[in-house]
Amino acid sequence: MPERLGPPREEPLFARLALVGLGLIGSSIALAARRQNLAGTIVAADADADVRARAQALGLADAVYADATEAAREADCVVLCVPVGACGAVAAAIGPVLEPGAIVSDVGSVKGAVIAAVVPHLPAGVHFVPAHPVAGTEQSGPEAGFATLFVNRWAILTPAEGTDPDAIERTRTLWEGMGSAVEIMSAPHHDLVLAITSHVPHLIAYNIVGTAADLEQVTQSEVIKFSAGGFRDFTRIAASDPTMWRDVFLNNKEAVLEMLGRFNEDLSALARAIRWDDGETLHALFSRTRAIRRGIVSEGQDAPAPDFGRPRE
Ligand code: NAP
Repeated sequence: MPERLGPPREEPLFARLALVGLGLIGSSIALAARRQNLAGTIVAADADADVRARAQALGLADAVYADATEAAREADCVVLCVPVGACGAVAAAIGPVLEPGAIVSDVGSVKGAVIAAVVPHLPAGVHFVPAHPVAGTEQSGPEAGFATLFVNRWAILTPAEGTDPDAIERTRTLWEGMGSAVEIMSAPHHDLVLAITSHVPHLIAYNIVGTAADLEQVTQSEVIKFSAGGFRDFTRIAASDPTMWRDVFLNNKEAVLEMLGRFNEDLSALARAIRWDDGETLHALFSRTRAIRRGIVSEGQDAPAPDFGRPRE
């Protein structure tokens, strides 16, 4: 992907950008929007008093409120940056103060369930443009954010048919302004694609790390000592935020279970190949998967350095 971060805008895109939730994603949007002059005023809300104090100390926003309605009042764009399961409650709270013409967006990793939870609370004349930045790390909280998180990453928009084209364009401009490449697709398609590219891999990582921790004959210290054999790459993903990921699985049930069914079938086929000394099947699969890794690197979605660029001892 070519370098996508342009210079800061001469005129802000939004007069008042409100971010609800100041974790990794909310704080990264605050930093990127400030740096790229995407908003005249950036305000935020977070339910957690400790997060608010830390966000204020970091200077993430012009004002940080406990109450999401205070942030959303008079905002021309509100982005919900809370766990997927909290989006409906936040929309119910802010709905009454939203002004006609305002854009509401979100960053949830699941789209269908968020749309179903948010839409009933938005007054007529408010435009909902759901979004999902396919960017992140295993860290959470306001200190985890950084302004370049979205640079050269995809942002997927899933607006319903009939959504105001200008609102879609402005949301696209927000994400492109932070350096992302934007793609538009339907919510069900998004949820299916992300189930296999993100949700099931996280479930596998949580499972393998959990299994290793439970195995009695392999002590915890040996798991850590010999983790460079591959295990530690799973532990990075399995360290991801528990609340966020609980909500992802509970809100993308159907697609995750469908993909997990496919995964289980393929895993059984591999077990069978091992049992029957079918080296040809194993070698053919491992060659295909190696090509996928090379494709990801050549698309600029990861660096080519061996072992993820970890320093050599
Ligand atoms: P995070 O670091 O855990 O931050 C979420 C923040 O929202 C926390 O400070 C939380 O406070 C606050 N919050 C929760 N419920 C709230 C409510 N009702 N009103 C106001 N604030 C509330 O999470 P994140 O990683 O930024 O994820 C946020 C969203 O981005 C999720 O929907 C996730 O699916 C999506 N996303 C995440 C990633 C990633 O890699 N992390 C990538 C793409 C998209 P508490 O501490 O009190 O819970």
